[in-house]
Amino acid sequence: MMRAEVIGDPITQSKSPVIHGFWIAELGLDAEYRRMHVTPTGLASYIAQATSDPDWRGCNVTLPHKLAVMDLVGDPGGVRDSIGAMNTVLRGGDGTLTGTNTDAAGFYDPLHGLDLTDKPVVVVGAGGAARAVLFALARLGVGPATILNRNVLKAAALLSAFGLKGRALPLDAVLPPAALLVNASALGMVGHPPLDLDLAPLPADAVVYDLVYAPLETPLLMQAQVRGLDTVDGLEMLVGQAALAFELFFGVAPPRDEAREIRLRALLTA
Ligand code: NAP
Repeated sequence: MMRAEVIGDPITQSKSPVIHGFWIAELGLDAEYRRMHVTPTGLASYIAQATSDPDWRGCNVTLPHKLAVMDLVGDPGGVRDSIGAMNTVLRGGDGTLTGTNTDAAGFYDPLHGLDLTDKPVVVVGAGGAARAVLFALARLGVGPATILNRNVLKAAALLSAFGLKGRALPLDAVLPPAALLVNASALGMVGHPPLDLDLAPLPADAVVYDLVYAPLETPLLMQAQVRGLDTVDGLEMLVGQAALAFELFFGVAPPRDEAREIRLRALLTA
């Protein structure tokens, strides 16, 4: 039986088994997707073991392994030098392991109808998720990018790493007008303070995208809805990145019609 899993420390919170399990059942695949607790000291032996198991198709990688795993697997797509973190490892037929990152494409998935060429954008955060977002935005040819972050120097380094023109500012800076505002920070997530921004400078056609999915309805999204702005929640990216990984693991794209998306979202928010 084909097998894939998600590894991390902790791992009980991961929603990936629900998403992949839903698609496996919908397709009637002879496959399973599990949750595996792998600690930092156990990562190398977990990866070594994976090369010898022909049923193991790959794994998703979550915190804290997204950087460390890059030293243990091949990188044919140059992910280390672009996004700088891996979230998916795949086993080839000959047992070789390669890594990739489906977060940037998962982030872009709900934005594909939006023309952001030369448009100003704002990203809050400068961690791993922000790297995937900025990679995607740079590829889209956005205009000036403003990064708001607690650590401003880290944000400035990201602007230059992704070849983006713009500014790095502290979290209490006044929001500039923008076509897209993305929260890629932990602010608004359960256990963290809310993201406190005045959205007044955003034009009426701006989109507000929050990567946080626990809770799904963040104070930022609620504030944007009150202003009548279009919003995108964190489940869109989570499901988008999972869909790409699923196809890489099992060789078949997951079925993603509207009725199934509604049922999947209901499962994920139950
Ligand atoms: P990370 O690498 O740890 O980065 C965390 C970011 O949040 C940094 O910019 C950090 O600022 C900021 N931050 C954390 N606590 C803060 C505080 N108390 N005050 C101000 N800033 C704070 O985490 P990540 O992997 O990028 O994840 C960030 C968020 O994105 C999380 O909520 C995660 O669940 C979400 N996410 C969602 C998806 C999805 O598919 N929807 C995928 C990946 C991540 P400093 O740089 O100053 O430390």
